[in-house]
Amino acid sequence: MRFAEVAVDAPGAERQTFTYSVPDHVEVAVGHSVQVPFGAQPRHGLVVALAEETPVQSVREIQGVTEPEPLISALRVGLADWMRARYLSTPFEPLQLMLPPASGRRRRMFYRLSTTDDRTRRRRPTFESDLDGRIVQVLTTRGPSELATLGKELHETVLALRKAVARLRRASVVEIEILWSQPRVSVRFEATYRLNVATGQVAKIADRLRVSGAPKQAAALEFLVGEYGPSRDVLASEAVIRSGVKGPSWKALASKGMLTIDRREVRRRPVAERPQESIGGHETQHTLTADQEAALSRIGRALSDRSRRRLEEPSVFLLYGVTGSGKTEIYLGALERTIAVGKRGIVLVPEIALTPQTVSRFMDRFPGRVAVLHSGLSLRDQYDEWRNIRDGRFDVVIGPRRAVFAPLDNIGLVVVDEEQEWSYKQDERPPRYHARDVAIELARRAGAVTILGSATPDIGSMRAAVDPSLPTYEVLRLPERVSGSVAAHGRSPGGYGRPLAHVDVVDLREELLAGNRSIFSRSLTLGTREALDAGGQAILFVNRRGAGSAVQCRSCGHALMCSRCSISLTYHNDGTVRCHRCGRKRRGGVPTTCPLCRRPTIKPIGVGTEQVVVEAEKAFPGAVVTRWDRDAVKQSRGHAEIVGRFIRREADILVGTQMLAKGLDFPDVTLVGVVNADIGLHSPNFRAGERSFQLLCQVAGRAGRGEMPGRVVIQTYEPDHYAILAAAAQDYEQFYRQEIEFRRALGYPPFARMARLVFRHQTGHVAADEAAKLAGLLGLEIRRRGMESTRIIGPSPAPVERLRGRYRWQIEVLAPDPVDLLSPLTLPPGWIVDVDPVNVL
Ligand code: ADP
Ligand code: ZN
Repeated sequence: MRFAEVAVDAPGAERQTFTYSVPDHVEVAVGHSVQVPFGAQPRHGLVVALAEETPVQSVREIQGVTEPEPLISALRVGLADWMRARYLSTPFEPLQLMLPPASGRRRRMFYRLSTTDDRTRRRRPTFESDLDGRIVQVLTTRGPSELATLGKELHETVLALRKAVARLRRASVVEIEILWSQPRVSVRFEATYRLNVATGQVAKIADRLRVSGAPKQAAALEFLVGEYGPSRDVLASEAVIRSGVKGPSWKALASKGMLTIDRREVRRRPVAERPQESIGGHETQHTLTADQEAALSRIGRALSDRSRRRLEEPSVFLLYGVTGSGKTEIYLGALERTIAVGKRGIVLVPEIALTPQTVSRFMDRFPGRVAVLHSGLSLRDQYDEWRNIRDGRFDVVIGPRRAVFAPLDNIGLVVVDEEQEWSYKQDERPPRYHARDVAIELARRAGAVTILGSATPDIGSMRAAVDPSLPTYEVLRLPERVSGSVAAHGRSPGGYGRPLAHVDVVDLREELLAGNRSIFSRSLTLGTREALDAGGQAILFVNRRGAGSAVQCRSCGHALMCSRCSISLTYHNDGTVRCHRCGRKRRGGVPTTCPLCRRPTIKPIGVGTEQVVVEAEKAFPGAVVTRWDRDAVKQSRGHAEIVGRFIRREADILVGTQMLAKGLDFPDVTLVGVVNADIGLHSPNFRAGERSFQLLCQVAGRAGRGEMPGRVVIQTYEPDHYAILAAAAQDYEQFYRQEIEFRRALGYPPFARMARLVFRHQTGHVAADEAAKLAGLLGLEIRRRGMESTRIIGPSPAPVERLRGRYRWQIEVLAPDPVDLLSPLTLPPGWIVDVDPVNVL
């Protein structure tokens, strides 16, 4: 007897896998997608292990496999289990990410005639009701059908049909088949015909059919045997077109038992045949700089070591290089070497839409060998891409965080570009994984090399690289920009902290004192004018959409708040006042008098992108100003249109949010202005300083990417804040030294790991009570088990206490591994657990 351990996709299967016996006629392997009985209904599950025996009494039987081949490799099944343990997810959730896109979203139940008992069909069993017989008739002529189809054919209610098929299932005449994995199954699955008649018999039967006045059926039979032979599935559409015999004749043959009608999955043409979109493709192979050469040869050595023998130690490189230092060139070179030793690579980027130039460099270097996972693709195309990757048609997969789950075999290299990016963490839904950490674990299991690339590495990654007590990562440094500004600035001794573009910090308090009430300081106004006059372009960065930060009363200080979220509302130039969390608009826009003090002094305050556009048009007459933020993207045909316009120089000034900080290369930009560097600086997150520093560095990195030198103006009310000082100096190491001490002093990551527990409820005190209860329980557990290095913070209201009408309370656990405390416990229902959170609002 064989047994399979199955992760079941069903409520009630959150905490464990279930054991099923494997019937003799079913072939299963680890990673197979199976149908199993679970409660009253058949459910979908994935086989995670096989065994010869089980301690479990009375196991039920697997009903069958839903796909002939295993969908997930054993290596990834192991990775999923690692994720389950690390992120406290269900066994199925991580596996779900590894299935073809859209899996499980459209679970469709088909009824078919039982295959295990062929006699029923010939014997024509006596049916309990007339409907039962009619159902069998339909299933014979149409092949496997859904309840809705039966309803349409038979004009019966769903209830009557349900009862009838239940009877037929008990009598083993009908069985259920779940086709769950494909988006829009009805299109993806086409009918097939298969001949049930021995070749030698066909001529005789065909004659008989002709005599009885059915020449088309005869022709159909002869066509099948002549073109395809017996027992082969033929696409119905193909058979109809090629034979000229229409559907009804085939159905008649089926009802006589000479033909079986079934369904088969149809795959569309491979992605490689589709023209690939390429924005600004300009890939030429460069002679590497000395630093690039050194980094690449170190990676190359690790790659060839690993291809010869499997090493147990992880091999993670932290490629730390300023923007424009040629990191992408290293990824390309490392991939070339990976492919040269017969292996493949995965490249993660924060967001495809914001990094089209990077993506097209990969496509240009490996034409036809790169699969791009893009959420802009239709589900069907994503599905096809998945299949093509699994079938080994690509050497490189590039995409956002979920690309780490692409079914690529034989992985030699995993690259995580901009490894510090928050978008690598999935925090909206389970499993709440961090793609960088999953990538490292995947590479470790595959015996592959990992490259984490960044100009401003995550504090935790850098510590893993430089702290001698943790010899885990190896740092590779690219301290210089390769082009443009190298010539402009010359080489500096030491390299690090060398200003990439000249940075000025402007103290906005002094501007006010000097009587300048504009949102642009004198220095920014002058710098922009000079840049434009010299034929350059300018970027104005403000990390907030809309025309202001709040609508506030100057007399009493009251600010308009969202009625469902504890967040202040933002004014937009179209007169609307909106919540940026839930999107709700305030009825009536800005009120004429303050709702609290009734004075007419309530007005939008602060700055947002829309207001900056208006002010820039005033301050720089003649300049074309364009806006790039989430609202503008919605109004146009996406990022590419806005970016294209700016690159083609149809606009002189680009005003935008953090989108413009990412990977794009604007060669003519010589001035970057940060309109208000303080936004986000004091957000209640221990990563707020790190986040501000990274963002300012990235924005500053947009200046002077071409031949002309760049200049950056940072406006702030807090010129002495350590994150702003370090960003102004573009000195990562200075920032790192301060930030790591702050983290050490407070015992925050990377000196501990965090789990954040959140409970939401419509009623505030219910959430508060629930949080107090759990905090008490956790405290007891910590004492009982003597977990001295485990701390809990809270319970406290979440920084954004109300969200979409629900109150949120939280508890933070800080420990060497918070899972030690949490995993043996069953948390009360309703709690959300986020292990290693990045966003703690
Ligand atoms: P990063 O990824 O660190 O921002 P890139 O790899 O994009 O840097 O390199 C910045 C620019 O310099 C790109 O236009 C790239 O084509 C070019 N470049 C990279 N390496 C070299 C080199 N060795 N010689 C000349 N140009 C290079
Ligand atoms: Zn809201």
